[in-house]
Amino acid sequence: MKKEITCDCCGKGGVMSKRITRCFGKGDRVVVIDGIPLCVCPHCGESYFTASTLQEIERLRMHRAGLTVQGMAPVLSYV
Ligand SMILES: [Zn+2]
Repeated sequence: MKKEITCDCCGKGGVMSKRITRCFGKGDRVVVIDGIPLCVCPHCGESYFTASTLQEIERLRMHRAGLTVQGMAPVLSYV
């Protein structure tokens, strides 16, 4: 699987993908998701999630919505 990603911002190719950990939500609905692929453009410096990544994040959040332990943010792994 080798496809070049083009930047949503400047339209150039060669966008790099790296894995990050990020918190989503607020208050007692915060979840931490580990290993999310973030696209980073070396040309304009823009960084963003792709639409499919955002969908998967949303799915993970919905899935874990009922499992939140009060006072602790659950850590999810992006697969
Ligand atoms: Zn760019």
